Amino acid sequence: YIRNISDLEKVAVLGHGYGGTVYKVHHKENHSFYALKVRRFKTLEAEILKRVDSPYIVKCHAVFDNGACSESDNNGGGDLSFVMEYMERGSLDDVLREHHRLPEEVISVMANRVLEGLKYLHGMKIVHRDIKPSNLLVNDKGEVKIADFGVSHVVEEEADSNDGTYAYMSPERFDLSRWGGENVDEFAGDVWSLGVVMLECFLGHFPFIDPGQKPDLVTLVCAICFGEKLEMPEEASPEFQSFVKRCLEKDWRKRATVLELLHHPFVNRNCCCSSRGLEDCVLCG
Ligand code: ADP
Ligand code: MG
Repeated sequence: YIRNISDLEKVAVLGHGYGGTVYKVHHKENHSFYALKVRRFKTLEAEILKRVDSPYIVKCHAVFDNGACSESDNNGGGDLSFVMEYMERGSLDDVLREHHRLPEEVISVMANRVLEGLKYLHGMKIVHRDIKPSNLLVNDKGEVKIADFGVSHVVEEEADSNDGTYAYMSPERFDLSRWGGENVDEFAGDVWSLGVVMLECFLGHFPFIDPGQKPDLVTLVCAICFGEKLEMPEEASPEFQSFVKRCLEKDWRKRATVLELLHHPFVNRNCCCSSRGLEDCVLCG
């Protein structure tokens, strides 16, 4: 029902990111607000956004290619514009900047929604690969949804019992790290990221390095891959500590899966909104 990109008036800039700008726009005819994301180069994002439809993922209403509404193909040159559902409260990054830290009840509700979103995506063989506060958006109802499929990836089906097709493959196409009967579970990376986000929400700062430290690549690799075991904050509940530890298991083989975490007691608490009234929930009111 959004037929023309010229029906959208830019009202404000909501964000700049890797390869594009996101505007708050107003639709002249239906008087609704949307977020318009303009991308300078193409990724799998358009394909993924067209396929997904879930209450846990920011909805994409239309994709325009150089101004023309394109329902089916986006292979032409030029910018792509996505008309997205407008998330009034911005990203979890904005929420954290305003509130500094979030209470466990709120983190529990947020984690539950992200897990439901990941369950849906992983079921469609989509790995998000960029779960972080600025890609988790919050609407007026306090609902958290996953956004930004800019670096997402669709996992190929295993071509087993089809050894013949390997015969003509060049050496570099045999990715040896994937052989020996064990494929790295790419979905496990999204679970790790969720654990980092939760810890950041609890502590009020990125967990692996000191608040003042510069997060350059070398510092991060040292801290994340070779650093000592991350201590859980003592003031956190045992459920929070156990949940986050299961996400931040360094060995991906031992890390919890999304389905396992959906049964964890930490995300099966009552929502703060239903138990204590809307005012107490910083996401809801
Ligand atoms: P990028 O690939 O540039 O990071 P994002 O989709 O993450 O693109 O958008 C960048 C920022 O723009 C987000 O962190 C958020 O602050 C804002 N934003 C994006 N989409 C929306 C939306 N639908 N509603 C409100 N704000 C949004
Ligand atoms: Mg982003």
